[in-house]
Amino acid sequence: MVTSRILAGFAMVAVVIGLAVTACTTGAARSEPPSTHSAPSKTTSTSAVPTHKGPPNAEDGVLPDHTSAYDTDLPGIAKLDPALRKAVQEAETAMRADGIRMQVTTGWRSKKYQEELLEKAILRYGSRKKALEYVAEPNESHHVTGHAVDIGPAAADHWLERKGNRYGLCRTYTNEIWHFELVTTPGGSCPPMIDPTR
Ligand SMILES: [Zn+2]
Repeated sequence: MVTSRILAGFAMVAVVIGLAVTACTTGAARSEPPSTHSAPSKTTSTSAVPTHKGPPNAEDGVLPDHTSAYDTDLPGIAKLDPALRKAVQEAETAMRADGIRMQVTTGWRSKKYQEELLEKAILRYGSRKKALEYVAEPNESHHVTGHAVDIGPAAADHWLERKGNRYGLCRTYTNEIWHFELVTTPGGSCPPMIDPTR
């Protein structure tokens, strides 16, 4: 009993580490199977079990590299609050005219995805308290409700911080340059940022 718990713990750690590696890899890993129609993520999800056991996948809101706010076929974009999605799409178009190509690194996330991110952050930062400065509880995350987006690269974040308010978009946390929410009216001023470390 005890050993199986320990083993389960190790398995969890392995999954989380695997997730971290996946999250950090670029397009190379994703484009590995060159020509088959059955992507690896599909073979794991065809097991017909509603709550799959593997790492979070596209159904949980995991987005491929270079995802645009117009990629509405992806659950991570499709399940965003429609007003937020529209604002991000408009900002993306305007940004592109300025020569910056943004990508949505995360939009909507399932609770499962959020839980895994929190577990990963706890391992990384060494405590739940510290981890919560960067990753919200599944019940509190604005990503889980579809009311937040993480944007990259840094040039896009800086553009959004300067001009996002034209679309109602504001950076909301002092420690996350990539996290934006629809928290003002178009052209309005952004509210003071929240410092989660306090
Ligand atoms: Zn975020």
